[in-house]
Amino acid sequence: MAVYRAFTVTGSRRFALVEREIRDPGPGEVRLRVEACGVCHSDTLAVEGRRADPSVPVVPGHEIVGIIEAVGPGVTAWTAGTRVGVGYLNGHCGQCESCRRGDFVNCTDQPWTGTTTDGGYAEIVYARASGLVRIPDGVNSLEVAPLLCAGLTVYRALLGIEARPGSLVAVQGIGGLGHLGIQYAKALGYRVAAIARGIGKAELAAELGADEYIDSTAADPGQALTRLGGAAAVIATASSGASMSPLVAGLGIRGRLVVVGAAPDPVEVRTPDLIFGTRSVTGALTGTAVENEDSLRLAHDRDIRSRNEIMPLSEAPKAYERMMSGDARFRVVLDAAA
Ligand SMILES: [Zn+2]
Ligand SMILES: [Zn+2]
Repeated sequence: MAVYRAFTVTGSRRFALVEREIRDPGPGEVRLRVEACGVCHSDTLAVEGRRADPSVPVVPGHEIVGIIEAVGPGVTAWTAGTRVGVGYLNGHCGQCESCRRGDFVNCTDQPWTGTTTDGGYAEIVYARASGLVRIPDGVNSLEVAPLLCAGLTVYRALLGIEARPGSLVAVQGIGGLGHLGIQYAKALGYRVAAIARGIGKAELAAELGADEYIDSTAADPGQALTRLGGAAAVIATASSGASMSPLVAGLGIRGRLVVVGAAPDPVEVRTPDLIFGTRSVTGALTGTAVENEDSLRLAHDRDIRSRNEIMPLSEAPKAYERMMSGDARFRVVLDAAA
């Protein structure tokens, strides 16, 4: 009997290394041999037990790159041997009202990889074919894994702002999401302002392509953006609502604050800041599988790279702790072959 190793989690942070029998993929599903899996902050939903029934073991991880080993009944567009990615959305159903309206991200019958269905802290993963993402040739699986969630998140947020090329776009926070946000914003043709605390990250921001650097501890970052002409959009990645509040006043006419960093505290907005200038505050979740392919191709063509710390799959619980520490520069990726 062939088996594979996986890390499950139950309750809060109770990891267990288990062996499972390898089965044939079900209808509409493929079986992947995992090569790499990024460790994302959203893994907290599974690992900290913030899901429907934390007593049921689940395998976390939703930035997966692997090779298709087997395809299930009804899968015609994918073949064994193809390298693919799986992100947070595990594949839309094609039948629900959202799907019938072409809104696949909001499919109501879509598993969430590593949260409601087993994910990539494992040697084997099963995924819906409708959620698979083609990986460009010539990219390294360990390097590209974080783009499947973190990269797609900032890419999709930037697509939604509908700002003219050359407009000022700010990226708040230079962490796992922000360091990618700066690179994507630059690749999409914007003038990029990076906002972070202190001056320690100014050099890094410039290296990543930022044209301007705003130290949010030295001056009000909203006023700093206004002095630069006002931002068409701010992509807010810091996990603090309070740190996002002053940014609304730094938006230009029809500017948007796009929240992608989940924070425990609210964003506070002064109503005149919304009304005069018709500014808005909005959120962005993730994108579809085909948008993920667009994002990977752009990243490949424009040399957008996630800076990663690689750890072996056998150290998945430690890798999760490393991600949670906030000290990782900038994403943590599990190597399933190590
Ligand atoms: Zn659906
Ligand atoms: Zn994620």
